[in-house]
Amino acid sequence: MQGATDSAALGGVCDRWASHADSSQSRGVCGTRPDGFTERPHRLVLFRLPSSRLTILDEPDLARDSLPVSETFVSIQGEGKLAGVPSWFLRTSGCNLRCTWCDTPYASWSPEGTRRTLTDLIAEAKGAKVGHAVLTGGEPMLFAALVPLTHALRDAGIHITIETAGTLAPTPLPHCDLWSISPKLAHSTPRNDPRDATGAWAARHEQRRLNVPALQSLLNAPGDHQLKFVVSNERDLAEIDDLLSKLTSWAPSDILLMPEGITTPTPAQRAAVADVCLSRGFRYCARLHIELFGNTRGT
Ligand code: SF4
Repeated sequence: MQGATDSAALGGVCDRWASHADSSQSRGVCGTRPDGFTERPHRLVLFRLPSSRLTILDEPDLARDSLPVSETFVSIQGEGKLAGVPSWFLRTSGCNLRCTWCDTPYASWSPEGTRRTLTDLIAEAKGAKVGHAVLTGGEPMLFAALVPLTHALRDAGIHITIETAGTLAPTPLPHCDLWSISPKLAHSTPRNDPRDATGAWAARHEQRRLNVPALQSLLNAPGDHQLKFVVSNERDLAEIDDLLSKLTSWAPSDILLMPEGITTPTPAQRAAVADVCLSRGFRYCARLHIELFGNTRGT
């Protein structure tokens, strides 16, 4: 879910905003310990599943005792109000959107992983002993099992962040201490994307990417909230302003703006976003995990 964009999809980007990342960057390589865990400096990959292709998933999944999981790992939360906090991450596999610049295509365009039981996942979360769980994807809100999973994590005293695009607000909602919502702007739509030869996903993505009633339901839900936006130009700001004008129950300090890109942004990119944050009272959102680890899986 953590976002990045490709300026090639944007066009007409002014100099101050421009510059970009190469989504073909290599992924990190892990060493395997005798106990089967995989370790890299500063982060511990707890479960990297064989890359079996899942036949799922872009529609709600009603199973309540298991989840399709792409990976679990312990790392530093890289974005948002809890940046810097050691956390156990659970990445569900499957998404109802297809952002053209998606930085986790193995959980969206080509979902990989396998199903794991809640019993297994809860034991792993408790064993991580970091006190914070981040449920991300893909789109974790597709899965009804999130409700019993989050109740069990809450009962174990674990703080829960759910990272979602905010297009789904099922009833009942899972328990959540920090709703980390990343609405997808127009630049996310996979126009002329070779992975979408018929254009079917472009149409579906465009129809789904902003769901104001769902966003409002999440903002009204108990817990803290943050709305994270990847911003690259003035058009993005206009789209953000238009969306925020339709929503209530947010404060400027809940709005987080990130420069586009999946590498460390340039000084000009940082300055452009910082200027907007200063003028509107929004928060500047760094990507600490990129600075610490680069654009690698398991971070
Ligand atoms: S919403 Fe889905 S497609 Fe878009 S960035 Fe997140 S995981 Fe990728």
